[in-house]
Amino acid sequence: MSERFADIILPLPLANSYTYKIPEELSESVKLGMRVVVPFGSKKIYTGIVRYVHAVPPKVSSVKEIIALLDNAPILRRPQLPFWEWIANYYMAFIGDVYTAAVPAGLKLESETTITLNSDFEADAPFSEKELRIYNALSDNKPHSIKELTRITGFKTILPTVKNLMDQGAVSLSEELRAAYKPKRLTCVRLADDVTNDEQLQTIFDLLHRSKKQLNLLMVYLELSRHLTKTGSREVSKKELLEQSGSSAAVFDALVEKKILHTYSKEISRLDSTQTALQPLAVLNSFQKTAYRSLLSQLKEKNVVLLHGVTSSGKTEIYIHLIAETLKLGRQVLYLVPEIALTTQLTQRLERVFGNKLGVYHSKFSDNERVEIWNNLLNDKGYEIILGVRSSVFLPFRDLGLVIVDEEHESSYKQYDPAPRYHARNAAIVLANMHGAKTVLGSATPAIESYHNALAGKYGLVELTQRHEEIELPKVQTVDLKEAYRKKRITGHFTDELVEKITLALSNKEQVILFQNRRGYAPYIECKQCAYVPRCPHCDVSLTYHKHFDMITCHYCGYTSKVPANCPSCHTPSLQTKGFGTEQIEEEIHALFPDAKAARLDLDTVRTKKGFEKIIRDFESHSIDILIGTQMVTKGLDFGDVSLVGILNAGNLLFYPDFRAHERAFQLMAQVSGRAGRKSKQGLVVLQTPETDHPVIRQVIAHDYKGMFATQMRERHDFRYPPYFRLINIIIRHKDAGVNNHAAALIADELKKLLGTRVLGPNNPPVGRIQNWYIKHILLKIENAASPDAVKEIIRNVVSGIQSDGRFKSLQVNYDVDPM
Ligand code: ADP
Ligand code: ZN
Repeated sequence: MSERFADIILPLPLANSYTYKIPEELSESVKLGMRVVVPFGSKKIYTGIVRYVHAVPPKVSSVKEIIALLDNAPILRRPQLPFWEWIANYYMAFIGDVYTAAVPAGLKLESETTITLNSDFEADAPFSEKELRIYNALSDNKPHSIKELTRITGFKTILPTVKNLMDQGAVSLSEELRAAYKPKRLTCVRLADDVTNDEQLQTIFDLLHRSKKQLNLLMVYLELSRHLTKTGSREVSKKELLEQSGSSAAVFDALVEKKILHTYSKEISRLDSTQTALQPLAVLNSFQKTAYRSLLSQLKEKNVVLLHGVTSSGKTEIYIHLIAETLKLGRQVLYLVPEIALTTQLTQRLERVFGNKLGVYHSKFSDNERVEIWNNLLNDKGYEIILGVRSSVFLPFRDLGLVIVDEEHESSYKQYDPAPRYHARNAAIVLANMHGAKTVLGSATPAIESYHNALAGKYGLVELTQRHEEIELPKVQTVDLKEAYRKKRITGHFTDELVEKITLALSNKEQVILFQNRRGYAPYIECKQCAYVPRCPHCDVSLTYHKHFDMITCHYCGYTSKVPANCPSCHTPSLQTKGFGTEQIEEEIHALFPDAKAARLDLDTVRTKKGFEKIIRDFESHSIDILIGTQMVTKGLDFGDVSLVGILNAGNLLFYPDFRAHERAFQLMAQVSGRAGRKSKQGLVVLQTPETDHPVIRQVIAHDYKGMFATQMRERHDFRYPPYFRLINIIIRHKDAGVNNHAAALIADELKKLLGTRVLGPNNPPVGRIQNWYIKHILLKIENAASPDAVKEIIRNVVSGIQSDGRFKSLQVNYDVDPM
């Protein structure tokens, strides 16, 4: 038989796949999209993905062999591989990096992966000899890496066996931060086996006639299990039974003791949502109906439609109707949101209508949970709708019919680090096309690019200008910060006007949201005497102060240190905190409104999935009066009783040196304002700003998106920015500043010869050194008419020319296509 080969994608920053020989015994089984274990480099092993299977021997002297095949069936479905290839090509990323980003770590065994024993595992069948050896090697209950296990057991290839053990639940991948995968168990209740007819049931009722509580519990059980109705029974959990009957555990135990009820334990998915009774779709109001009809008809003509609807116009209700239609056709839905923040509220809203057809996917899930979702989708076990953040575009969908990109203007859809630096909205549109699906982009403040595409006819456009129940958009009142400082009408960061409005809202038992921009306001430490500012030893940034831990840290590399008692420069005890973060706002609120309950919603308080959910729930239930937040509070959260929104300082939004600064400033202010007055009366926004007459401020006051769009388009045109030009940023890094400068200059020169004035730089990025790597940028502005593929080819050639020069061996070059 002729030899067969497989091209394998490795989870490494490599542009190509590598060819391995398929061992004789696997020649029939290795297929596209399956995982295989392969050696790479001198001693490493990795889990790769099969990209092609063929009979063409590679032109190298010795071809390595595949060590093991991990799957019986592919873990990828059509069109995932072409989608990866599109991302790698468009975003100038390595296919290996795309693989790393796309597949959860739990599906990739690597030499460094560590394995632990599951202590509560009970075997259903005896282990094979190999399994037993590995199991025993782990019985010290310490995590061991695959490498160590290979050494201890003396087996050459242990991965397939480790995988078998994992599948049986005997061992799991251990990670400090991620919960080890263990099936979750639930205690369920059933009636004794010998109770098979009504007569026997009657006997039991007679028996219990003196114990009212037990009888009550039994009746509730019979009702919950539908035993009485005989329309088919239903499983009842102990927890549910106790809750529904209001009984104590003692009453329950008594019935178990009497052998009337039996308990049994059942494995459940940790992703299972408690199934509540489903609610019908909301009836759309007349504006929504018109919008919905227009959306449906435009979707017949166009692949993408932009739904531009003011905040609280009920875009979500329209999505829900679209989802229902898609599900009727038996097709799947991907519902993208820019941040985990949004999944909490949306999960509840969607579950009410779609129940367990909904799956949620985001980075706060443990790796095991992500593997579970991946596998469920792959094996068609549930999930017709996936609600998730950008990485959900990589899930193995069977047949997408609809992709919704909510808050499509959000820059968090763009992945910056690590590569692939993809934009999930744009990638989702490509994915949708590959599935023959339609895409709906939704926003109250669309990205300039999207609105432009809609006006140009590339996308359909539906506009919703009325809020639900025709509540007016909030009134925006500006307060001049400069004047407030001059007249000393300000306490900390709160002008007298804002304090007055907060007082009023609190006395009416209404809630308040305060918005503090994150950017440029990280608190830091400065010496009063000599103006010394502690900086990161590895990066060119000042360290950020965290009051809660009394530590200073680097946001780029994580370097952390205690705050020194004395200034390291002048040795006097004069260090003080500068700048203001939400922590400081919270302190000021406590001083100004000692009786109000305030909480912060920012990256520090929401490290965990639960942390975020708790704050949202507490705010919904009025356990919190004032919510202080960064960008996170702007993103589509829906609270009914917020009457006042305070924007503490619009200045740092407006004066940021970025061509998108004004667009973003408008979007942020309009979005955070949109949290006010959603359910009842018109809300109020107090906007503190050093400049009350700035055009963007005027546009925010007037809720004038179109005005903002027109101004921005003129500027984009004049200064050669998107949507008129495409941008590609080349990121050049080296540990030696001189070598880096030299290489950057050479690349820029070469490119200028070929592309002329489209090439700008080399430039110094805002942070010129990160983790001891010096950084230079070269920016390309390419007119829309030029072929992006041709330009990318030119760039690749120039860069590989420089990189093949011995002097620049360890030069790193990365690309950011369509940088944000
Ligand atoms: P958007 O997504 O446009 O900001 P939402 O869909 O969140 O708006 O709607 C705002 C509020 O109005 C939500 O609380 C929602 O439940 C309610 N709402 C919107 N449309 C309807 C409708 N047709 N029937 C009942 N409630 C609605
Ligand atoms: Zn650092």
